[in-house]
Amino acid sequence: MPKTIFEHTSPGRRGVCLPTREIDTPLENILPAKYLRDKAARLPELSEMDVMRHYIKLSHQNHFIEKGLYPLGSCTMKYNPKIHESLVRHTCFANIHPYQHESTLQGALELLYELQEDLAEISGMAKVTLQPVAGAQGEFTGIKIIAAYHKAKGNTHKTKIIIPDSAHGTNPATCSLVGFDVVELKSNPDGRCDISRLRELVDENTAGFMLTNPNTLGLFETQIEEIAEILHSVDALIYMDGANLNALLGIVQPGKIGFDIMHYNLHKTFSTPHGGGGPGAGPVGVVEKLIPYLPVPMVSKDDVGYHLDYSHEATSIGKVHTFYGNFAVLVRAYIYIKMLGAEGLRRVSENAIINANYLMAILKDYYHIQHQEYCMHEFVADGTSQKKANGVSTLDIAKRLLDKGFHAPTVYFPLIIPEAMMIEPTETESLESLNAFAQAMIEIAQECAENPELLHEAPITTPVRRVDDVRAVKELDPIFKIED
Ligand SMILES: *Cc1c(COP(=O)(O)O)cnc(C)c1O
Repeated sequence: MPKTIFEHTSPGRRGVCLPTREIDTPLENILPAKYLRDKAARLPELSEMDVMRHYIKLSHQNHFIEKGLYPLGSCTMKYNPKIHESLVRHTCFANIHPYQHESTLQGALELLYELQEDLAEISGMAKVTLQPVAGAQGEFTGIKIIAAYHKAKGNTHKTKIIIPDSAHGTNPATCSLVGFDVVELKSNPDGRCDISRLRELVDENTAGFMLTNPNTLGLFETQIEEIAEILHSVDALIYMDGANLNALLGIVQPGKIGFDIMHYNLHKTFSTPHGGGGPGAGPVGVVEKLIPYLPVPMVSKDDVGYHLDYSHEATSIGKVHTFYGNFAVLVRAYIYIKMLGAEGLRRVSENAIINANYLMAILKDYYHIQHQEYCMHEFVADGTSQKKANGVSTLDIAKRLLDKGFHAPTVYFPLIIPEAMMIEPTETESLESLNAFAQAMIEIAQECAENPELLHEAPITTPVRRVDDVRAVKELDPIFKIED
């Protein structure tokens, strides 16, 4: 284990020495006695360089996109241009306050307005709210809108939402939270939505259908028009989980092929660093008939300028977040879209798709891949052959990848593929880095056959070896405690 900063301490060592000034007033006259320490605080004593080296060393023990390929399927861990970081910290963005008068926020409102418009154009939806701050919160907003739509139409009998068995766990969780019953749709043998089974499940009580496209197997759901017809015939709405939009930019507009509502994961597709759980933004786009239910406020524009628009408050589902959402993530997405333009965005998706297909074509000779047709921006390989032949699990393979300097893919998801490894290289990897990753996966496949014991031991080069996940959850006490 690396030392903590407290273990590096050397008495008397200092980072900066500020000029000291004698204080002639006794401290007790400045602060009430009960707030004064009777012992000095036990702070680490180090030079500035010691501190820098300590934290830089620690940062390298983590994995991040600047250090290596990060093929975490469905999470779109692409490289995020650093110009976002300097622009978003510009005082014009960083020093404004949401309580300022609208007339002094025209630039920020213009940016939000244009982002609403750009996202609507990208998806083919009629209008977009920027308020939700995560994909999951976008889903919550979207399903609340579905509930509000049915309530307004007096559709009180509509209690269920259908979701395929390949869906992300947030989909059923969201529906339950909003109060709908979840009905699972089994995927067909080619990994897609089973239309005839869907037809059987849909009835007058169906409020909606949630579909991820491309789905979590990395396959494009081709029969959207037919699916839309089935759902719309009973006045049910179709929600698209847009977490995989990185495969569709400039190629497909979901709002034009039958989806009624969708969320975007700006932190995934439109580039905000999002390892470790945040920050995010999950805007939601809707077709014309659902605009009245969008959260308030929207940003609108008239002859005078840009405004926070509460005009549909009476029908709106209300607010889902304070103010206007996660402003800094919205600024990054705006810059990303404006820098790339329509052409550039399309190239993002094309390259994401090519990179995934390139890796799949190499790896299919070494790992079992259930759905081998061309994939979109990601594909699902699995460790079933290695498990059967060598007793090595996908978890072992994922851990061994850490020894080779790569982040592991998403494992054991989607649930319908045993020993799944969901690989999403993204468009920002070069041919050389794709080859290096493929080479590591090939070496691991060989190690599985020749030295399975090594795989059970992995990772062997990381500062923390294999952790006991169950114990970590059950015993939350910190490993070490600081006195005082
Ligand atoms: C990431 C993801 C989500 C949830 O998005 P968050 O921003 O993490 O809340 C939902 N569905 C799919 C398919 C995802 O990949």
